[in-house]
Amino acid sequence: MRLPKLRELKEAVRAVVSPRFTTRFPAEPCIVPDRYRGKPEFDPDLCVGCGACVNVCPTKALTQVDEVNGDRSIRKITLRYDTCIFCGNCQDGCTTERGIELSNQWDLAGLDRESMAEVHEHELQLCEKCGAVIGTKKHLVWLYEKLGPLAYTNPSLLLAKNAALWKNGSGGNGSEGAKTPTEAAPKEMQTRDFMRILCPKCKCELNIRL
Ligand code: SF4
Ligand code: SF4
Repeated sequence: MRLPKLRELKEAVRAVVSPRFTTRFPAEPCIVPDRYRGKPEFDPDLCVGCGACVNVCPTKALTQVDEVNGDRSIRKITLRYDTCIFCGNCQDGCTTERGIELSNQWDLAGLDRESMAEVHEHELQLCEKCGAVIGTKKHLVWLYEKLGPLAYTNPSLLLAKNAALWKNGSGGNGSEGAKTPTEAAPKEMQTRDFMRILCPKCKCELNIRL
């Protein structure tokens, strides 16, 4: 019989008396380091629904769909964390810089892949002339606030901010601050269209024609 080498014996004795290197998960929670890359988390206050993170996601774990409906048009941003590789591109490319951040959540195992998705909804702003999607209402308001006085060069941003104020009840008598796409004006451009929320195409046409 081969006898164990001295080095192996030393390792065995050291392993018996030293603290363990593994955790007792799931009997005890496993605490990961602060910089651990776990499941991305949206911040509902700081995410404006612009979709920039969707464009930089390499695995299509983030997707977006615009559902245009007369009464309420919404953008749905879906995060599938079963296909996320925790690369952090979404966090790095976020327009507001804090709309999505990787968390320390790592225990994401499950038996049902369909439940490994979360959907975030944002109300869309449509062009009041042609009904095309401009972006989310929250994004337009964020742009207005970011631009400060420069926003006064863009009536659509001013009107979007105004509409948000009416909606939040700080606009006075409670009447609507913006027209819905169903109230869209006649097709031909008119001077009063300057005071509508327009998509870039309609704005360009308006500036050329009038
Ligand atoms: S961490 Fe990477 S893979 Fe996961 S959602 Fe963000 S960009 Fe996509
Ligand atoms: S880039 Fe940021 S603000 Fe835009 S949708 Fe993604 S998380 Fe939200």
